[in-house]
Amino acid sequence: MSLRTSLALMTALLPAALAAQQRTTLDIYVIDVEGGNATLFVAPSGDSLLIDTGNGGPAAARDGGRIMAAVQDAKLARIDHLITTHYHGDHFGAMSEIAGRIPIAEFIDHGANVQANPTTDAFLNDVYPALYAKSKHTVVKPGDRVALRGVDVRIVASAGEPIRDAVPGAGQPNPLCATYQPKDPDPSENAQSVGSHFTFGRFRALHLGDLTWNKEFALACPRNLLGTVNVFVVTHHGQPISNSPVLVHALAPRVAIMNNGTRKGGQPDAMKVLFSSPGLEDLWQMHFSQLSGQEYTVPGAFIANVVDEQPASMPIEPAAAPAGGAVAQPPPVHNGPAFWIKVAARDDGSFTVTNARNGFSKSYAAR
Ligand SMILES: [Zn+2]
Ligand SMILES: [Zn+2]
Repeated sequence: MSLRTSLALMTALLPAALAAQQRTTLDIYVIDVEGGNATLFVAPSGDSLLIDTGNGGPAAARDGGRIMAAVQDAKLARIDHLITTHYHGDHFGAMSEIAGRIPIAEFIDHGANVQANPTTDAFLNDVYPALYAKSKHTVVKPGDRVALRGVDVRIVASAGEPIRDAVPGAGQPNPLCATYQPKDPDPSENAQSVGSHFTFGRFRALHLGDLTWNKEFALACPRNLLGTVNVFVVTHHGQPISNSPVLVHALAPRVAIMNNGTRKGGQPDAMKVLFSSPGLEDLWQMHFSQLSGQEYTVPGAFIANVVDEQPASMPIEPAAAPAGGAVAQPPPVHNGPAFWIKVAARDDGSFTVTNARNGFSKSYAAR
């Protein structure tokens, strides 16, 4: 190799290498995909894990662009791992869009789809295999690890099954189990969600996708297999068919971040579970939810996004939510500039959360 070639090579590799050298925090970007999910984890080593890819169809370009903005903010040259929690369109929608813009080294999922749907089946038959054919495809089981150098990432749920053994330091009997009331069995893909638990030094975070109520019970009772966490990405966009208090209150998160839409998630029943969670210091939200109304929302400083035509005031009364998590009316449009909530976590357990819209930032000291 000539000196000129090696210099050119070094220059090309320098930005990524420098970014990796300068990183000291585990960064978590909760990205606005309008009531879908896309959450990016970047370890201090520079290794990256994206959980879900937002909405598809006409929304794929928008959500893909928002996810790529976070990828670029993190100075990533590739996505090392992509977990698709389950096969709902608000979780795998912009996958092709993203795969066309940046290499994805590993595609992770729970295995076979349990909820037949023409759009999903077409994606799984015709699109997805072609995407992972060029890299690696992994079907995970509870207890598996995801190789994110410097961060211990454990799969705690997949294909309807919970982990058998507690994560390190967890596994205490959970006194809340006596209060548990089951809901009807959930035959949908939500119950199949891949759940991921993160340990970075003394910092802990949890992301359970759209896992539903009875599956949460299996993780929380009779022993709490997940222990307590610093940051909880609120399950299922903050809908009350998930977020059982037997799990949420046992996790006792210091901070919860809700990936809700303007009319998806944030119903009063879910908000009450979060607000009454022992030790909760703050709840951060992607959007003001009309299903919360002002009655059950957080201060605007903790809300990352407005809508394209932001009203001068927000309703106080919660709007009635349709059953089963459906969206009755089209929500207010938000196709314009979008903002993430970013967590920068340190290995002593301290972390800082920032609202990218208004720059409001709060630090949570180690304890
Ligand atoms: Zn939005
Ligand atoms: Zn969802």
